[in-house]
Amino acid sequence: MRETESGIREFEGDLIAGVDIGGTNTAVGIVGDEGRLLSRSAFPTTDHETAGEFVRHLAKTIRQLVGELPPPARLCGVGMAAPAANWRTGTVESPANLRWGTVDLVSMVRGEFGLPVTISNDANAALLGEMTYGVARGMSNAILITLGTGLGAGIAVDGAIVQGENGAAGEFGHMNMELHGRQCGCGQRGCAEAYVSATGFKRTVFALLAERLEESELRQTSFGALTADRVSALARTGDVIALAALEVTGRYLGRLMANLAAAFDPEAIILGGGLVGAGDLLMEPARRAFMESALKRYTATVRILVSPSNEGQMAILGASRCARQTGVTAEAS
Ligand SMILES: [Zn+2]
Repeated sequence: MRETESGIREFEGDLIAGVDIGGTNTAVGIVGDEGRLLSRSAFPTTDHETAGEFVRHLAKTIRQLVGELPPPARLCGVGMAAPAANWRTGTVESPANLRWGTVDLVSMVRGEFGLPVTISNDANAALLGEMTYGVARGMSNAILITLGTGLGAGIAVDGAIVQGENGAAGEFGHMNMELHGRQCGCGQRGCAEAYVSATGFKRTVFALLAERLEESELRQTSFGALTADRVSALARTGDVIALAALEVTGRYLGRLMANLAAAFDPEAIILGGGLVGAGDLLMEPARRAFMESALKRYTATVRILVSPSNEGQMAILGASRCARQTGVTAEAS
C-alpha cells in the first residue's frame, strides 16, 4: 500500500472488480492500478430470478476473470454500481426491471469473497470514473448527465460526490421542466426525463409527427420499433422531423444545464449515454439554449463536454475506484 497526496491509502498492484449492474446487462471488469481495465465480461441481469442467484453468478464471473490473468493476480475488493443503489446502507432499492425487492448486495457479495465491497449509484460511479480517469480528470466541481432510457445524473461539489441524506441526490430527471407537461413514469407531469432521455426523445418525435405534415420516414415506424439511434441516423440524412426532434430535445437539455449551473457552479457538465451519439445535431441546440438561459457568469465558465468513453466503462472504473478508496479506509478503521 501507499499514501496518496489526499492521504487515502490505496492498494498497489492489486486488483479490484468493478461491476456495473444494469436493468438489462451486468458488466464486470477487472481493474488494475491507474484504472487499467485488464479484462471484462458481461451477462444478462434479468436471467436471475433472485438476488442470491445473481450474486453467485457474479462471483463466478469475477473468479473466472481473475483466474485468467497472469500471476500474481490478487483480488482485493469489489466495487459495484447500480441504479437506485444506496451508498450508505449498501442496498439496492427495488431495481428497475428486477423483482428482487430491496436487497443488501454489499453483504451478499462480501459473503462470497470476504473482501471490502462497496456499492454506489451508477451515475455517481460514472462521474467518479470521469473525474479520476476521463474527461473530468482533475476537476473538483462537475456534473454528469447520462441520457439513456431515463436521465441519470451525478454531482461532485468541492471534490466530493454528493450523496444526499438517503443517497438519492441528483434526480435531475424528475426536475419539473413544464408545469402541465408530459406524464412521467414517476407519476408527476413535466419531468425533465419525459423530454431529455431516449424515451422522451421518441415521444417528441411522435408529438411532431402529429403536429406537422412534412414527409418523413418516421411515419412508417411504430413507437415500439423506433430507437433513438434510428432517429439520429435519419436526421443525418436530412429528415425534417428527426432534425426538429433533436432541436427540441437539445433545447430542453440546454435549459436543464442552465438550471444545474445556477445550483452547483460546476467547472464542467459532462454528457454521456446513447442519446449523445446524435452528436452536434443535439449538442448545438443544447449549447445554444444553455447560452440563452444561463446567467452570464456561468456561460463564460461552464464547459459542456461529451464523454468519449465506451458505454458503461466509466461506471466500471468509477465503481472500482470507490472500492479502492473506501474499502481500504473501512479496513483500516
Ligand atoms: Zn418524473
